[in-house]
Amino acid sequence: MEPTHTSSPTQGAGPHDAIAQQRRLVTAIPGPRSVELMARKSAAVAAGVGTTMPVFAARAGGGIVVDVDGNHLIDLGSGIAVTTVGNAAPRVVDAVQRQVEAFTHTCFMVTPYAGYVEVCEALNRLTPGDHDKRSALFNSGAEAVENAVKVARAHTRRPAVVVFEHGYHGRTNLTMAMTAKSMPYKSGFGPFAAEVYRAPLSYPLRDGGLDGAAAARRAIEVVETQVGAGNLAAVVIEPVQGEGGFIVPAPGFLPAIAAWCREHGVVFVADEVQTGFARTGAMFACDHEQVVPDLVVTAKGIAGGLPLSAVTGRAEMMDAAHVGGLGGTYGGNPLACAAALAAIETIEAEGLVARAREVETLMKARLHALQAADPRVGDVRGRGAMLAVELVVAGTLEPDAALAKQVATAAHREGVIVLTCGTHGNVLRFLPPLSIGDDLLHDALDVLDAAFAATR
Ligand SMILES: *Cc1c(COP(=O)(O)O)cnc(C)c1O
Repeated sequence: MEPTHTSSPTQGAGPHDAIAQQRRLVTAIPGPRSVELMARKSAAVAAGVGTTMPVFAARAGGGIVVDVDGNHLIDLGSGIAVTTVGNAAPRVVDAVQRQVEAFTHTCFMVTPYAGYVEVCEALNRLTPGDHDKRSALFNSGAEAVENAVKVARAHTRRPAVVVFEHGYHGRTNLTMAMTAKSMPYKSGFGPFAAEVYRAPLSYPLRDGGLDGAAAARRAIEVVETQVGAGNLAAVVIEPVQGEGGFIVPAPGFLPAIAAWCREHGVVFVADEVQTGFARTGAMFACDHEQVVPDLVVTAKGIAGGLPLSAVTGRAEMMDAAHVGGLGGTYGGNPLACAAALAAIETIEAEGLVARAREVETLMKARLHALQAADPRVGDVRGRGAMLAVELVVAGTLEPDAALAKQVATAAHREGVIVLTCGTHGNVLRFLPPLSIGDDLLHDALDVLDAAFAATR
């Protein structure tokens, strides 16, 4: 442990060139300044807004978050898969600074601006499929999911929406209905929106060997008997589930669901809010199986940390909603659009899709070694820089949430930001920014190995 740490940024310094890319603890975690801010948070912020770590951020860049006490923490969370291109990424900072001086807001629905159109052009180019597309921009993932449902209903003139077990789609009323897990997302917040139905997912660890095609038949059987294709506007699915546990469906599952949708005039919506923009080692997770969704919902990694989301899809579907039927005061805010264009440029210029695959190779090798040494690691899974371990009671499939919490807490104390997820809370998930170096990844994995060893 070194007593030195980066002091407050000097004026005019680059966005993160002063942040040493090294884990350094100069106080206990949390340090005294974070403890003091945490007390003020408790007195000022609604209790329902929780935090993973009781540590307040001061600066961030590369693979490091510097806290208000000067501790350098390794970032394996990217603010929940948002800062994929890095925190305060140089191109994003430049673009936002230029935009904030030009104008901050006009409302695209009042006097439009080019940045919004350029983001839509980029989304139409980058999302799966080369058909004619249109996009619309919003603020949050949940808002975009809601708008995808509006578009699907306007296009099909049918009411029902099918989602999947373990699915997560947000915290608004409709998206709470679409989200599977009660605590903490839904409990006590009903009644929820109607016409939302849940189908079984492909979950290889817990499916008893069901292959993708068979799992799809099982899901379709439920949909046909309990909803009926003629009532169904959309099937909404995360191609790799996020909050639900980083579940990668068996090969063939997604293509079979998409094919059934096409056959029955049901809009197939890929919720790529967490998986999009290079995260999984492809620009979009649907690309891994050449699945072409009718509508793609994006957010999180789209704009390097600024709030932006989008729905992109087939022109004839997107144009089904009447003029004035889609929009919002802030949707496609000019700062967020400038950031998105810079984030997309960063992904392309720095080869971040390939970098995500390198992260996968490095981390999976280490996580498989951990699994070989520790029978409580029931599964190692994920794609690209979206990886997870599911923890179980050794020799069983019984979820071990206590162990996940224990390991995460130990990692936090050692200066590694790691998140949990899963319906049973027994999954440790890893979402490093793609600006992180290999040395930081290895250091973080050493910390995790030690945390597991300490609980044996
Ligand atoms: C985070 C997330 C959402 C909700 O996004 P918000 O911006 O928090 O509203 C929706 N879908 C998926 C898959 C997500 O991971």
